Amino acid sequence: MTLMNTYPPQPVTFVRGLGSELWDVDGKRYLDFLCGLAVTGLGHSHPVVAEAIAEQARTLQHVSNLYGTTIGPEVAATLDRLVGTEPGKVFFANSGAEANECAIKLARKWGGRGKYAVVSAFGSFHGRTLVTLHATGQPAKHEPFQPLPEGFRHVGWNDLDELERAIDPTVAAVLLEPVQGEGGVQPATPEFFQGVRRICDERGVLFIVDEVQTGLGRTGEWFGFQHFGVAPDVITMAKALGNGMPIGACWARADVADAFEPGDHATTFGGQPLAASAARAVLAVMEAEDVPARARKAGERVTQALEDVDGIAAVRGLGLLIAAELADGLDAKVVATAALDAGLVVNAVTPTALRLAPSLLISEDEIDEGVAILRKVLE
Ligand code: PLP
Repeated sequence: MTLMNTYPPQPVTFVRGLGSELWDVDGKRYLDFLCGLAVTGLGHSHPVVAEAIAEQARTLQHVSNLYGTTIGPEVAATLDRLVGTEPGKVFFANSGAEANECAIKLARKWGGRGKYAVVSAFGSFHGRTLVTLHATGQPAKHEPFQPLPEGFRHVGWNDLDELERAIDPTVAAVLLEPVQGEGGVQPATPEFFQGVRRICDERGVLFIVDEVQTGLGRTGEWFGFQHFGVAPDVITMAKALGNGMPIGACWARADVADAFEPGDHATTFGGQPLAASAARAVLAVMEAEDVPARARKAGERVTQALEDVDGIAAVRGLGLLIAAELADGLDAKVVATAALDAGLVVNAVTPTALRLAPSLLISEDEIDEGVAILRKVLE
């Protein structure tokens, strides 16, 4: 094994995927209720996305961002339309953490000297680079890497009073997920998001929404913030945008985006034709299939079915980003391992809860099959 020791031993080696199905090296079939980690929103090997990548690979794979391409601007325009607030501009990156790095640098440039701090929430997850690690409100993850870059503070999740108290003239931005994904699938309350918008307006602070896990239909809206009737200043996304092809994006309202000048930020690969062609195909399929509506409908079916399963105490989430809180005494890791043995991919998002993030195109039969496997495992 020549890989660095950053993940626990991997229990299965997958070699093929199609739609909601995966096959391992021994030919065993699995139903995928996790989609990577909320990445393959259109399922594995979607034919339209696969064809777009193959065709682009034969046409033009890469030019540097010193030169133009036609695809990136097209994808940016579609994202801007789906965000649906004021006109914005997009920077393409290669991952969620990089999209957040861009947002945080943009907030600092916009804030100017002395206005640089970012307030985020305990329980949040924003990435693993040094800056996004510090934005991530999980102190245990910080410890081995101290000292981390300055300018980050954390407040209780959904605690508006604490957030307001944390804002002083050094704060440039508030950074929040609409649903804390890695933090256990914990949705924000509408009052919290609406209150944050009001406070940011009053105090001259940017509201950055991290839609890396929640964006692009997953929660039953194009973006999670759309559940709460607020308009962020900056939005980051990644995961589902390429359906597995690495691409991230940082969208910002045009006047905020204009704080960046040439030379302020850059990337070798971000927005390159190959990844952008995947994103263009993904967005076209997502719009044609109306994935937010499908996620709402499928999410209701999954939630209702799980509520009837012995061994599941509570179900929470939005759309197809769902956590099943297990009954007392059940260990989520043990249950997730047993589910994998039984042919269902889910993960333990906390010690007591499973996360389910199936394909946005999952069929009713596949939902029923997955829930039946889980029911049997919990029996
Ligand atoms: N932000 C959120 C909300 C995430 O869930 C994740 C990854 O799980 C990230 C950022 C980091 O994304 P990446 O792993 O692509 O850097």
